[in-house]
Amino acid sequence: MQEDNFETLAIRLQTERSQYKEHSVPLYLTSSYKFDDSEEMRALFANEKEGNVYSRYANPNTSELIEKMAALEGAETGWVTATGMAAIFTTFATFLSAGDHILSSRSVFGSSHQLLNGIFPKWNISYTYADLDKKEQWENGIQANTKVIFVETPSNPGIDIIDLEWIGQLAKKHGILLIVDNCFATPYLQQPLKYGADISIHSATKFIDGQGRTLGGVILGSDKLIRQIEGFARHSGPAMSPFNAWILSKSLETLAVRMDRHCESALKVAEFLEAHAKVKQVRYPFLPSHPQYDIAKKQMKLGGGIVTLTINGGVKAAGSFMDKLKMFSISANLGDTRSIATHPATSTHAKLTEEERLQVGIEQGTVRLSIGLEHINDIIADIEQALS
Ligand SMILES: *Cc1c(COP(=O)(O)O)cnc(C)c1O
Repeated sequence: MQEDNFETLAIRLQTERSQYKEHSVPLYLTSSYKFDDSEEMRALFANEKEGNVYSRYANPNTSELIEKMAALEGAETGWVTATGMAAIFTTFATFLSAGDHILSSRSVFGSSHQLLNGIFPKWNISYTYADLDKKEQWENGIQANTKVIFVETPSNPGIDIIDLEWIGQLAKKHGILLIVDNCFATPYLQQPLKYGADISIHSATKFIDGQGRTLGGVILGSDKLIRQIEGFARHSGPAMSPFNAWILSKSLETLAVRMDRHCESALKVAEFLEAHAKVKQVRYPFLPSHPQYDIAKKQMKLGGGIVTLTINGGVKAAGSFMDKLKMFSISANLGDTRSIATHPATSTHAKLTEEERLQVGIEQGTVRLSIGLEHINDIIADIEQALS
């Protein structure tokens, strides 16, 4: 077994098994654990001994998922949470105090923007936004109280990309924590910790589950940082359920083959759309027309499963395209086996002003496509008939 082959590791990483020697990872639905005696209970609570105490802290299924995700992304360890937003909130809440400042970009997930914009100000935590592709804005945005740089690459839904190696060096130079939302790429396509990120976060709800069944969040980093996150999470309670951890661990076994197909089909869709007369613009990391194509090629294994297009004719044309789709679902999720179309301006990004939306590449005619695992001919045929 080649330890660094992603597919093999995702399937064969040897984790704990019960006395029944089950072949597949079993499910441990238990809220708490027994101690042999009062001394063992004391030692576990004092962190003098390793073991399970209570499923808000750890459970064999969440521990197994953490071990597998950390191995796949080259992290020392990790933590898992009920949702991707719980992972982002838990990470921020662990490292930020009143008076601190976050440097980020408007090209972040809608709820991440709401955290920075609507929730953290009440604890006197401020933020500044820089454009993902403008280096001087990142350099100038650093303040004496900047504690965290938070980026999402590729971004949702604009598919903007930031050079992770460059921002990693900038963060290091100033002693600032770099946190990367790695949701669109998954550990199979991009490993931010290798480029200097301190923490990599996933919404496991998307491609990691990959089948639209469950919510989940993953935080990966050094043992030192994750122990701090654990200290916050144990007592604030964003825990992932053992059942969801079990589902997500099974999903990791097929992540590589699923991502290969998502990416292969998404590239074909992007190329088809780019050649279509009704399409004004297509954004996909591995299209040579993408402004950060060279950076995408450097830091990503493949281009990902999301293609964003802007149709000539604004909101009416986008609405008519979506309504004509026969196979694609209209849904807010992404990273599913089923192909999905979303209209960001009226759904996920409806809370932004028109000006803010334009800054992140969302026009009224913009549609986000999550390319599923149906046959590529059926995917393209559905898009083609809906555009005609
Ligand atoms: C969906 C998503 C999240 C939030 O994840 P949930 O599991 O829905 O809480 C965060 N970041 C990105 C990029 C996402 O797409």
